[in-house]
Amino acid sequence: NELYRIDAWGGPYFTVNSSGNVSVRPYGSGTMPHQEIDLLKIVKKVSDPKSESGLGLQLPLIVRFPDVLKNRLESLQGAFDFAIQSQDYGSHYQGVYPVKCNQDRFVVEDIVRFGKPFRFGLEAGSKPELLMAMSCLCKGNPESLLVCNGFKDFEYISLALMARKLDLNTVIVLEQEEELDLVIQLSKKLGVRPVIGARAKLRTKHSGHFGSTSGEKGKFGLTTTQILRVVKKLEQVGMLDCFQLLHFHIGSQIPTTALLADGVCEAAQIYCELVRLGAHMKVIDIGGGLGIDYDGSKSSDSEISVGYGIEEYAMAVVRAVRCVCDRRSVKHPVICSESGRAIVSHHSVLIFEAVSASACDVAPSMSAYALQYFIEGLTEEARADYRNLSAAAIRGEYEACLTYADLLKQRCVDQFKEGSLGIEQLATVDGLCDLVSKAIGASDPVRTYNVNLSVFTSIPDFWGIGQLFPIVPIHRLDQRPAVRGVLSDLTCDSDGKINKFIGGESSLPLHEMEGNGSGGRYYLGMFLGGAYEEALGGVHNLFGGPSVVRVSQSDGPYSFAVTRAVPGPSCADVLRLMQHEPELMFETLKHRAEECGEVDKDGMANSALATSLARSFHNMPYLSVASSCCLTAM
Ligand code: PLP
Repeated sequence: NELYRIDAWGGPYFTVNSSGNVSVRPYGSGTMPHQEIDLLKIVKKVSDPKSESGLGLQLPLIVRFPDVLKNRLESLQGAFDFAIQSQDYGSHYQGVYPVKCNQDRFVVEDIVRFGKPFRFGLEAGSKPELLMAMSCLCKGNPESLLVCNGFKDFEYISLALMARKLDLNTVIVLEQEEELDLVIQLSKKLGVRPVIGARAKLRTKHSGHFGSTSGEKGKFGLTTTQILRVVKKLEQVGMLDCFQLLHFHIGSQIPTTALLADGVCEAAQIYCELVRLGAHMKVIDIGGGLGIDYDGSKSSDSEISVGYGIEEYAMAVVRAVRCVCDRRSVKHPVICSESGRAIVSHHSVLIFEAVSASACDVAPSMSAYALQYFIEGLTEEARADYRNLSAAAIRGEYEACLTYADLLKQRCVDQFKEGSLGIEQLATVDGLCDLVSKAIGASDPVRTYNVNLSVFTSIPDFWGIGQLFPIVPIHRLDQRPAVRGVLSDLTCDSDGKINKFIGGESSLPLHEMEGNGSGGRYYLGMFLGGAYEEALGGVHNLFGGPSVVRVSQSDGPYSFAVTRAVPGPSCADVLRLMQHEPELMFETLKHRAEECGEVDKDGMANSALATSLARSFHNMPYLSVASSCCLTAM
């Protein structure tokens, strides 16, 4: 636990139980009665075809915990309720969930259901997201906000206006000045009185990767001049009363409450100015940015950590809005936030398996005959290097040993390329250099663990922006890991490896894979990845997404119940994504088999070849754990 700092980044949801396995406390450390759910038990239950669930799902696997989602929502609402009450704030908090963080149907539906008692709404940034938000909110609280952000065209705005006709509490937030003309024209045409918001381009700038959209030169939002033109135009057409919301977003992972307060103050001043200019302002929408402490360091200097918790965040926001509005004698607005990362990150855990590890360096043995044969083949210079290497070894001069070994190796490689050295001699020099490294303690002690996963599909932010997530073995945590390793994925791409870990480490403490009392299986979990990773993940090498299960706490013998299980996309599914037609492909291969005389025309349907081909289309693209059984059965 200490080695992996689980309490630091995982609290209050993740801990290690007495069996040495990672367990989940779905309700955090709150007052709700709860049992812990053992992650390894979930994996066994859903992946073992012989288990009573009979699901036999293939890994990698995403395990979703709706109870964690509920707890995150309630914690956010609770933090704002407390801040509002303790600061005597004159209005309420009413958040929205930006669906882009995780658009999974059940995640969005759960958020709407869990957030219904406190009017929690949704934010959309594109037409399909808006369609999804509209249909999900039909089952929500009628007062919940539906915030429409993003670049908008005729169709997007028509849809948002239709949402208002459907009595959804929809706000069209102007991201670009040109959108206003469309809103005015279409709302007249459709006979809808719109509620309009504007996204302000603040001067407050959040530095670092996640803040690149903030500041005056940021990609989104309206400048002060543009906001003034919007006010004027709305006044001219008699629609200034429609302008009711001011939005800003200075970036994700806001590092400090000081920067947050700075941004909120600036926005609150604009809000008060809009009130002065006659807009019927009601809501200040502070965007996202509530950060996650991925490495448990609680440090504002790191992009993967933040120096505050939810409570401090809410306090800082309420204080800043109240201060500005009180000074300007403006009625306190409803405070809306668009926290995505903070709501969904904890609720899902990605579990994958190490399938093999590079062998530990074993000092190669070398016969006198092989050595003699090797030396005979060398050029005069290479022989001199060999003699210098031997002499340095006798004198115990380690640095010199390494230098001569490198020189010798390079000369041998050159000779091999010229054709004057054979492959056996090249292998001998490799062995000799390994022997030297090992003898002087310079060999690389870090092993490579091959994992049944695609980094591009499941942890795209690691590949794309170098974001780190906590990665931990989910079992055997009562045993001290004996080695250190990096993780190499299944893709044929050198970027498909994980060699940076939280805490600035370039390798991870890992257990030996054999003899682990778990049938030789070694499972790892990637935590806090519930936001952004699923939607950003691609299909590099045609690896599709993982299998997904939804697990709720229950009183049964397992303390959990699997309430939904979806196998990951099959080979046929991912092929279809690239316009291939698996059924036709199967037919083509079947004809070829007949032409090659593998089967006669009538026999194909029942042949082992057809069955095996069909299975290949049907299974997931990841390494099949059942493959070894198949080989023995063949
Ligand atoms: N709102 C807007 C407009 C965004 O662009 C984003 C993401 O960057 C969010 C909300 C969600 O931010 P976060 O995940 O930091 O809460």
